[in-house]
Amino acid sequence: MKKIAVLGSTGSIGTQTLEIVRENTDLQVVALAAGNSVELMEQQIREFRPRLAAMWSEKACEDLKARVADLDVKILCGMDGLLEIATMEESEILVTAIVGMIGIRPTIAAIEAGKDIALANKETLVTAGHIIMPLAKEKGISILPVDSEHSAVFQSLNGEKPEQIEKILLTASGGPFRGKTLEELKNMKVEDALKHPNWSMGRKITIDSSTLVNKGLEVIEAKWLFDVALDQIQVVVHPQSIIHSMVQFRDGGIMAQLGTPDMKLPIQYALYYPDRMPMGGKRVDFYDLAKITFEKPDMDTFKGLKLAYEASEIGGSMPTVYNAANEKAVSLFLDKKISYLQITEFIEAAMKNHKKVESPTVEQILAAEAESHAFVTKAAGL
Ligand code: NDP
Repeated sequence: MKKIAVLGSTGSIGTQTLEIVRENTDLQVVALAAGNSVELMEQQIREFRPRLAAMWSEKACEDLKARVADLDVKILCGMDGLLEIATMEESEILVTAIVGMIGIRPTIAAIEAGKDIALANKETLVTAGHIIMPLAKEKGISILPVDSEHSAVFQSLNGEKPEQIEKILLTASGGPFRGKTLEELKNMKVEDALKHPNWSMGRKITIDSSTLVNKGLEVIEAKWLFDVALDQIQVVVHPQSIIHSMVQFRDGGIMAQLGTPDMKLPIQYALYYPDRMPMGGKRVDFYDLAKITFEKPDMDTFKGLKLAYEASEIGGSMPTVYNAANEKAVSLFLDKKISYLQITEFIEAAMKNHKKVESPTVEQILAAEAESHAFVTKAAGL
């Protein structure tokens, strides 16, 4: 029986993780955490019977306590709750399916407690990769990527020597606005940006996919996960999302991982690595597949990607500013307080305004986050 704890269990990745647990009797959920979705959390507790559960907001936490008072489950609140779950004795693997930089402290605490990490929460690695990766190495734990592109790279590397990598080819669908001009992007609304052509995901990552900031975050995530230089990571637009990413080796040979766009495969692969377990669902039918195509990303129109390369090149606290300015700008865009193009405008301005801190501590990362949030709020005139 493999015991797992899930941070962000009510979200897109979290609920798909629980679907996998439902389909596999050798997985057991020992803890769940979410932000505010009390009703869904109550259902999850009644079905999976974890020993611990946490809600971020105090109100949701008190509400949950009352709802499950008849059950033998300890309800925790806020960051203390996330940290207790991340480090609990019985869990073997922590699924970080929480959204945003809030995942940094629980992820570090889990690694320190010797837990393997099934990592979906890319923002944590983007901002604190320089702390997390060496710590994971020191503690001898595995960081197993859940992001479909990184899982594809991880699968393509199976049995290969990482030092023989020439290039990582990260594929990108191009999002709902692929091929659009800046002029056309000016008036894009929240509803337009939330229509992803291939993947069904949480709201924040769906907007990030439309701006290519998601791909930018993935470039930085790949740099940390696979310990390669920035110029060894190339983004290839592949609108059909069948090839989930590729690795080119020093002899020119390329390994790729293909499949239908379904996050359950990378989640399950991370939970069972190095085994592959049976999984139902659609298969790629090569007779049906009319064509698979490739393009160069348009980094002038979709500045989100270009800025990620810049932020990562500058290093230190700059990727935090890139990420935090984006988190704030996306939340303002979702609340209809800023326009679509202002998302990347504000990221760029926040980066220009920031004085880099070399190798920031967690406190300095959180300070850069606060500074970036304040900068974007002010730039939006709020
Ligand atoms: P969702 O928005 O669907 O879910 C986020 C989850 O995090 C929810 O359970 C939410 O709880 C919880 N949460 C948010 N804030 C807090 C908090 N402060 N404390 C505790 N829990 C919190 O996001 P996704 O599932 O789409 O994405 C999760 C992560 O995975 C992101 O980092 C994303 O980039 C990454 N990812 C997602 C993919 C996808 O297909 N969705 C693919 C690859 C990576 P509540 O419901 O209560 O708000």
